[in-house]
Amino acid sequence: MTQEIKKVAVIGAGVMGAAIAAHVANAGVPVLLLDIVPKGANDRNALASGAIEKMLKTKPAPFMHARNAALVTPGNTEDDLGKLADVDWICEAIVENPDIKRDLYRRLEATRKKGSVVSSNTSTIPLHSLMEGLPEGFQRDFAITHFFNPPRYMRLLEIVGGAKTRPDAVSALHDFGDRVLGKEVVIAKDTPGFIGNRIGIYWSYIALSEAFKHGLTVEETDALVGRPMGIPKTGIFGLVDLTGIDLAPHVNESMLKLLPKSDPFVQAYDANGPLVKTIAKLIAEGYTGRKGKGGFYRAKGREALDLRTGAYRPVVRAELDSVKAARKGLRALVEHPDKGGVYSWSLLSKMLSYSADLVPEIADDIIAVDSAMKTGYAWKWGPFEQIDMMGTGWFADKLKASGMKVPRMVEIAAGRPFYKEEDGKALYLTAGGKYAEVPVAEDAWTLADKKRGKQPIASNKGASLWDVGDGVACLEFHTKMNAVDGDIIAMVKEAANLHKKGWKALVIGNDADNFSVGANIGLALFQANMAMWPVIENGVSEGQAAYMALKYSPFPVVAAPAGMALGGGCEICLHADAIQAHAESYMGLVEVGVGLLPGWGGCKELITRAISNKRRPGGPMPAVAQVFEAISTAKVSTSAAEARDLLILRPGDSISMNRKRVLADAKRKALELAKDYQPPKPVEISLPGASARAALKMAVEGFVLQGKASAHDQVVSMAVARVVTGGDKDITDVVTEKDLLALERECLMSLIRTNSTLDRIEHMLTTGKPLRN
Ligand code: NAD
Repeated sequence: MTQEIKKVAVIGAGVMGAAIAAHVANAGVPVLLLDIVPKGANDRNALASGAIEKMLKTKPAPFMHARNAALVTPGNTEDDLGKLADVDWICEAIVENPDIKRDLYRRLEATRKKGSVVSSNTSTIPLHSLMEGLPEGFQRDFAITHFFNPPRYMRLLEIVGGAKTRPDAVSALHDFGDRVLGKEVVIAKDTPGFIGNRIGIYWSYIALSEAFKHGLTVEETDALVGRPMGIPKTGIFGLVDLTGIDLAPHVNESMLKLLPKSDPFVQAYDANGPLVKTIAKLIAEGYTGRKGKGGFYRAKGREALDLRTGAYRPVVRAELDSVKAARKGLRALVEHPDKGGVYSWSLLSKMLSYSADLVPEIADDIIAVDSAMKTGYAWKWGPFEQIDMMGTGWFADKLKASGMKVPRMVEIAAGRPFYKEEDGKALYLTAGGKYAEVPVAEDAWTLADKKRGKQPIASNKGASLWDVGDGVACLEFHTKMNAVDGDIIAMVKEAANLHKKGWKALVIGNDADNFSVGANIGLALFQANMAMWPVIENGVSEGQAAYMALKYSPFPVVAAPAGMALGGGCEICLHADAIQAHAESYMGLVEVGVGLLPGWGGCKELITRAISNKRRPGGPMPAVAQVFEAISTAKVSTSAAEARDLLILRPGDSISMNRKRVLADAKRKALELAKDYQPPKPVEISLPGASARAALKMAVEGFVLQGKASAHDQVVSMAVARVVTGGDKDITDVVTEKDLLALERECLMSLIRTNSTLDRIEHMLTTGKPLRN
């Protein structure tokens, strides 16, 4: 049995320690956060307490829900080391200095629970050097757990065990990191910078310094090292501004000290080069990046640094043919003859060769390296995937033609791909030169893993149904941004009938970043411009009928959202028997942003839930007001935990911390529900009608007077009010789901006939932002 971690302590309440503690709390685990006692402080816990306070105001939020802060207990390392006696895992995140870290470890040894696991969050210092002179017993319990900043959002957790570390200490951290904290755990070897930073620091140095060498501008470089290379759109100069320019000299120096002279990073590093000098000058002048006065960009990105003169000038959009060529792939990019193509080959040939020479030195296999770069640096493709995109043989030939050495793993590949599919299996090339199957766990998989080598049960342009095993089917959306359209609705109807073909349960989920951004409003706008009112109304009815069919189908349906589940995407979740949400689910009914209201049963589900909530005192008005506010202000949860407050998740719904476990957890939940499944009973409620609407109207008029709501906001809000108060019924009448759906249709149709709503839709489609008309 894996050693269980139930209580955690984090030491060091700085940037990383505080945010790691917050994330432990996000997982519902109590955590002690300790830092030093500041000189002359009245409050001896000031550093830890202050860090918790600050995190409650930080954006993006380290806490998934403000109440999680209560799980973090502040303390200090002078008074509270005794409290470590009942802690299972102590995570050290203090300054990057081996002497200070070792000194702390010696103090921990005296008070920690026997057999508790201790780890360091060091970014660069090898474990063996941290363990010098420490007792054997401590060494057995010690590992490295390297989180990436910010820990809630960056999925990578590198774990390193030393020669003396107990294997079960590593597996305890692995299990906790994966299941409880939801991280992508990658086992790295005890080498400087582990995997992510070893490659990332080299990559960053080469990407920046070669920009000077090739005479590129900051904007041109970022246009190349962005989408074309599968890197977030900040590119590289933008990324350094974001992480802090002052951090660069520290990480570089730390790596230079630790790496052998022969390492390509040490070889390439030019302490007197223009990059190092520019960075030193920027830091000296307070240009430490976005947290300072600016960096390579300033004035909210309107100005950029001229790399030749060192002066700021207005940003100029990069116009490079190589960037356009990159649409055809990486090969087209690095083969392009302009300076952007030459730069890209220079950067990629070096970074990819460096990476391909580091297996098995830094990790056992190529999967670990690719996974680390994708989840720690948010690259779209790992280094080995990038080489595959060019072709290993082609890459080797181009290296030779450039007078460069062919790296170890590329030589081993000998023209074969690093990854391939065969007989429905995903394979990767091992360091020994043979192919092995990419491991897929029973309880952690993606839909792609289940689809490999199979045909769907049914499929159309917008959605497909897949067999995910044990009699469970999965409904996958695959339109652009998973916007719900007629194809998806048709497949929902088909899915609701799968029980007739012997399926036990249905899961609704996909592998995309966003579950669904809502209904396809482009189509609605087109139809409205052509005054195709009956067609639009029919689309609303069809969606309502399909979602109701799911709700009342005689087998369980579990929705598995992750990322955005908005509007019509949220409404389908509301009609499932249960939700198994990824912790990072952003859910809400946002239709008012485009001048509409939820018309596929969203208003109906929220108001019936709120009214049926027996724990709420004070009659129906508080329930009506809550739902009215959520819908008329287009509230979106910033996590699955917050979606509970919005009544989108119900008490029986669950949250998976790990993205890779969401579908497996949803399937397990669906099978559990299938055991003695009964479809829900039709809901009947009573609603307060016109009198409640009068109160809501006054509130809205107040907002208009204060300038907080626009004229059309008022129109849309009153349409929402009409639905959630029950239309022309009053408190003595019975309101059925059918009544509520009819009201949604009526009010939605009245809104879509207004020019202001059409202006809102058009504005959203062209700018991606809501229009406040
Ligand atoms: P930081 O400077 O923001 O915070 C360090 C904290 O440790 C401070 O609050 C300080 O008061 C406290 N501290 C110092 N000595 C202490 C001691 N003896 N006992 C208790 N507390 C002590 O640093 P950070 O950026 O949070 O980095 C912490 C660790 O995480 C370092 O090892 C760093 O390499 C690593 N790391 C940092 C990042 C990052 O992006 N900042 C990312 C990954 C890993």
